[in-house]
Amino acid sequence: LSERLETAFKQVKGQGRITDLNVAATVKEIRKALVDADVNYKIAKEFTDKVKDKATGEKVINAISPGQLMVKIVKDELAGLMGGEASELVLKGNPAVILIAGLQGSGKTTFSGKLANYLKLKKGKSPLLVAADIYRPAAIDQLKVLGGQIGVDVYSEPDTKDAVQIARNAVKEAHSKNKNVVIIDTAGRLAVDEAMMAEVAAIKDAVQPQEILFVVDSMTGQDAVNTAKVFNDRLDFGGVVLTKLDGDTRGGAALSIRYIVDKPIKFVSSGEKLDTLDVFYPERMAQRILGMGDITTLVEKAQEQFDAEQAARLEKKIRKNQFDFADFKQQLEQIKKMGNIKDLLGMIPGVGKAVKDLDISDDAFKGIEAMINSMTPEERANPDVIDLSRRKRIAKGAGKDVSEVHQFMKQFDQMRQMMKMMNKMPMGRMGVPRG
Ligand code: GDP
Ligand code: MG
Repeated sequence: LSERLETAFKQVKGQGRITDLNVAATVKEIRKALVDADVNYKIAKEFTDKVKDKATGEKVINAISPGQLMVKIVKDELAGLMGGEASELVLKGNPAVILIAGLQGSGKTTFSGKLANYLKLKKGKSPLLVAADIYRPAAIDQLKVLGGQIGVDVYSEPDTKDAVQIARNAVKEAHSKNKNVVIIDTAGRLAVDEAMMAEVAAIKDAVQPQEILFVVDSMTGQDAVNTAKVFNDRLDFGGVVLTKLDGDTRGGAALSIRYIVDKPIKFVSSGEKLDTLDVFYPERMAQRILGMGDITTLVEKAQEQFDAEQAARLEKKIRKNQFDFADFKQQLEQIKKMGNIKDLLGMIPGVGKAVKDLDISDDAFKGIEAMINSMTPEERANPDVIDLSRRKRIAKGAGKDVSEVHQFMKQFDQMRQMMKMMNKMPMGRMGVPRG
């Protein structure tokens, strides 16, 4: 029997549809996976609620593979949440001034180098890098080394202790040297602090950048969201750069940041090499979040689990000889939803031979349902109480002749006998956990 069940549900799974129940189970798994991938719980919940609505919608009813479809819905929703389309860098003005802000160690200096390289090679620009981090003596050297590697000039004033002044002078320098993009690499602190915010806001006021990019380390997870919010409140930045995606990070921060500050992620950076800067594609990030959170597998597992649970419940009832009209009706409903009645009917445990041989047509099938519908819940649960007067009532209610009710009752009884016999076969009980 267990082998039968296994085959039956395997096939059901293949041709199945998304039901409310397996959606609920799946969505719960997805939510857990998102939270594990550093997505804020509230966002994850709101997101999965949306997925749930979509999954239970009209379109998915005839899905060929519910698992795959769920994955697609999740992926599309994720991509949509992150902006759908890639978002362009603002390069207006001559020079176009780009201000880089973020915490210390987030990857600002490295990104500045990558961006300069990208603009030079991919956009044919002539950038000027500006070392406006006046607190760490090594900062200027770091930028100079990067500039040297990509052949981009670096503007610095080692003795000036005023980042705003340096930024202003750098823009003048760009004018005189025909640089059409100025990338200002600023200082950061280990945590958000007022002095840093005031300084970077002052630079913004002084040079009126066309673009402000907030750089954030994707490994910082939930913290990244809070930091993004503070920076955005102060700077109203134009875009986000997600760095260190080469590490063991799940990218959930991308989702949360986009959601909380409603600013596009414009670049993703992975690795310390200068040519590892990528324009942010929501679709790809969705794939990554799905992949890293292993949502694809989770979705499939959740579906399997649902099928297995249902099968186990049914199997238990059959084993105790408690299979009744209510179970039968439930099975019929399942089958109806899946269409293709004749093929699927044989998958009901025990029904196979007894009913398949009778070559039940769709109409007969409807008749059976009508008869079960005419039964009281008590009758469904205890088929034995259905005497002649009840049969007459059922026939009337279903618009059938009482002989048809007799026949159906007889078939149902045969089916139950067969289940009983199968229960006695030791082989049939192998492999299914007893409950
Ligand atoms: P800043 O303090 O914001 O200027 O950060 P830095 O650019 O100096 O980067 C801090 C550290 O992170 C350095 O050791 C970088 O080499 C490293 N780093 C920056 N970006 C990435 C990245 O995308 N991937 C990896 N693995 N390391 C990075
Ligand atoms: Mg730096």
